[in-house]
Amino acid sequence: MSTRGREHVYNFGAGPAALPTEVLEQVREDLLSYAGTGMSVMEISHRSAVYEQLQADAEAALRRLLGIPAHYAVLFLQGGASQQFAMVPMNLLPQGGQAGYVLTGSWSEKAMKEAQTFGRVRVVGSTKDTGYRRIPSDDELDISPDDAYVHITTNNTIVGSQWHRVPEIPRSIPLVADMSSDICSHPVDVARFRLIYAGAQKNLGPAGVTVVVADAPWLEHAAGDREIPAIFRYGVHVKARSTYNTPPTFAVYMVGLVAKWMLQQGGLLEMERRNRAKAEQVYSAIDDSEGFYQAVVEPTSRSWMNATFRLPTPALEAAFLERARAAGLVGLAGHRSVGGIRVSLYNAVPLTWCERLCTFMDDFRRNAEGLSD
Ligand SMILES: *Cc1c(COP(=O)(O)O)cnc(C)c1O
Repeated sequence: MSTRGREHVYNFGAGPAALPTEVLEQVREDLLSYAGTGMSVMEISHRSAVYEQLQADAEAALRRLLGIPAHYAVLFLQGGASQQFAMVPMNLLPQGGQAGYVLTGSWSEKAMKEAQTFGRVRVVGSTKDTGYRRIPSDDELDISPDDAYVHITTNNTIVGSQWHRVPEIPRSIPLVADMSSDICSHPVDVARFRLIYAGAQKNLGPAGVTVVVADAPWLEHAAGDREIPAIFRYGVHVKARSTYNTPPTFAVYMVGLVAKWMLQQGGLLEMERRNRAKAEQVYSAIDDSEGFYQAVVEPTSRSWMNATFRLPTPALEAAFLERARAAGLVGLAGHRSVGGIRVSLYNAVPLTWCERLCTFMDDFRRNAEGLSD
């Protein structure tokens, strides 16, 4: 079937981001009539057996993919990762208690800022003084046994850095992670985290659904003493199996398809192998450019999901983006807060796109250098 011009576009956007073409073809197939119902997924009640099965399948695929322990709950919520910035402290920061935040970029700053509206917050570690060009080492983390939880952002989508390890903090201190931009990009030991959240639109599906994975028994007793609206209470959503109110049914359906796609491709070990190869290729093109392209982040902290770099002048960056766009290479502008170039390499981006990009980078550099000679 025709992919309607998709073959000429290489989407390196940071999110909402590229989705596997096979998944979109499946969506097209199902769009008018899902599973013989004569109705679109969008037209089916969230209380129907058909939807219940669809959501159970999506959850089962995620559980298999990530190896989620049986006592962990999987929730499909709305409001994006930004709503989790608020729900985490609302539910997990007891009155009079404190929470620790590791600052590695602007999303972690935003998460901490929301927590500050609910209680005492400590900076457990920060690399802000380096412009967030690296991830802190374990030695730099100032852990307190009084922290109700410690929050990290595993991949810093804007600056382009990533934790390539789980920080070694005492197991008694609950670790909470925003994995919005690297969930399912490599295997992860879910049991090291008490709560993980991720907006779907980077690596899991379309915007509109946020996946929360949490240790359910812990959640029940950690969930504090605070009067909060039911809609923001994790326990309410666990009990109602994410159907306390109408869930984002179509987005959940697509997350299920993407998770099944990842399983068919070989699971998270295979995703990791591909993502490593893609990242190596792009960082090599940067590092082998004799300083024409300058990586923003220090080598050991570089993200495999969002590679960021600068060119010698803003004018060259503008020309780079313009010519890239003309060559079908889109979504490469850095976040509006930092500028520069950002190459997002989520699971749906194939190695062939990176090869294409690297050829473009080499050509652009040779041209630019020729002009200035
Ligand atoms: C994109 C992103 C967010 C914000 O997600 P929303 O769904 O827009 O709220 C938060 N954290 C990280 C790491 C992100 O990449």
